[in-house]
Amino acid sequence: MPVVHEFSIAEALATQVLAHAPAGARVRGVEIRIGALRGLEPDALKMCWDAVTFGTPMAGAELEVDLRPWSITCSSCGREWTSSVPFVSCACGNATPAPLGGDELDLVAITVDDGEA
Ligand SMILES: [Zn+2]
Repeated sequence: MPVVHEFSIAEALATQVLAHAPAGARVRGVEIRIGALRGLEPDALKMCWDAVTFGTPMAGAELEVDLRPWSITCSSCGREWTSSVPFVSCACGNATPAPLGGDELDLVAITVDDGEA
């Protein structure tokens, strides 16, 4: 169940954001970067984020997901490129170039409204 996976990620993320946001501040936006290896679905993650943050100071905060592409390296011709899908064939005819994906899950930025605006 991918959604369960996304839900636990969203929960961990909410905990992290809460720890970083200034006390009493209202969180407006959260930006994260996810490696392709994580296999996360950004739309599902946003849905879970909305559910997890409901009723918290983060409620309604926009979750911006920067999903990193796969890096593909062809063992036949040495070509390297990036792709949004892990299994693609190379232009040289090699049907099984090696996909490499990062497993990063980084909190990039938090936008807060301190109430003075
Ligand atoms: Zn190739």
